[in-house]
Amino acid sequence: MSDTTERIKCLIIGSGPAGYTAAIYAARADLKPVMYTGMEPGGQLTTTTEVDNFPGYPEGIDGPTMMVQLQQQAERFGTEVRIGMVTEVQFSKEAGGIHKVVVDNNKEIEAETVIVSTGATAKYLGLPSEQRLRGGGVSACAVCDGFFYKGQDVAIVGAGDTAAEEATYLANICNKVTMLVRKDYMRASKAMQHRVNATKNIEVRYNSEVDEVLGDQVVEGLRIVNNKTNDKDEISITGLFIAIGHKPNTEIFKGQLDMDETGYLITEGKSTKTNIPGVFASGDVQDKEYRQAVTAAGTGCMAALDAERYLAAVESLEEEAVK
Ligand SMILES: Cc1cc2nc3c(=O)[nH]c(=O)nc-3n(C[C@H](O)[C@H](O)[C@H](O)COP(=O)(O)OP(=O)(O)OC[C@H]3O[C@@H](n4cnc5c(N)ncnc54)[C@H](O)[C@@H]3O)c2cc1C
Repeated sequence: MSDTTERIKCLIIGSGPAGYTAAIYAARADLKPVMYTGMEPGGQLTTTTEVDNFPGYPEGIDGPTMMVQLQQQAERFGTEVRIGMVTEVQFSKEAGGIHKVVVDNNKEIEAETVIVSTGATAKYLGLPSEQRLRGGGVSACAVCDGFFYKGQDVAIVGAGDTAAEEATYLANICNKVTMLVRKDYMRASKAMQHRVNATKNIEVRYNSEVDEVLGDQVVEGLRIVNNKTNDKDEISITGLFIAIGHKPNTEIFKGQLDMDETGYLITEGKSTKTNIPGVFASGDVQDKEYRQAVTAAGTGCMAALDAERYLAAVESLEEEAVK
């Protein structure tokens, strides 16, 4: 452990749309934020080609370029962006307390406020053909990428509420949706199952798994295996959506920040406050409902404003105490 501990006003963990928006607001409020980017500088949007739904880009923009621009905007106001992974936290439970954070297992930082924007990682099947065609027709976000397959045939993998909801979302845009369910039943609620079954252009195939995603540069089809009979067949599709869940990146906060049963951070009411005074959460790490860049950015803004107000309140309490 280094012997030079750095003290800062505002630490931002994570460099997705939430982190960068928090950084822009915190820097402009003179909180001199320091950001650690984590293992995926720029966050999830760096894994996608076309972002068409972020306001302000009438022609759309590719994800990596958008994230570089967000970084430049945050740096313009003085955010210090550092490559590094937060590996340990020790949050103070006292209002006005100092939070200790370790980066890359060796650098210690003391922060008056911390904004957690570590996102959530989409789960994939892990097939080599699926990984190869990510961004070439394989996506983990139907709301983000469904539009690109308007009028085309697509498939979706998953059996929970999110998969069912995304299947009906795709059915509104696409010609046909084939839904692959691994078991012989769906996990989704009865109401969602009913919606799926009542949608004419969704075909649900039970006991079905992806054997291989077909296509060289882009998705052209799917080889499906029936896990009961081992029978295989192929369908033609241009888009494959994986809806088997997300894993919020909250491992290092376990036992310190309140989270739900799936690991998403819990925030107070309409704010970004966590159960720890001075620690705020923004973006997908606290949102399993919307998971969009614009909503992540919105809560990033809120987190910086919450941090600024918290620091002002602590300061006035300290002034009161010395009177
Ligand atoms: C394939 C795909 C396409 C998408 N397309 C769109 C789209 O077109 N439009 C749209 O609105 N949304 C889209 N999304 C969703 C969007 O990317 C997310 O909603 C958004 O990125 C969430 O932002 P975030 O800042 O909360 O987290 P993320 O973007 O997930 O960023 C999390 C950040 O935290 C960092 N991190 C994690 N752990 C640590 C740690 N211990 N220490 C330091 N840093 C850490 C990571 O390195 C990363 O930088 C898409 C998602 C995917 C997967």
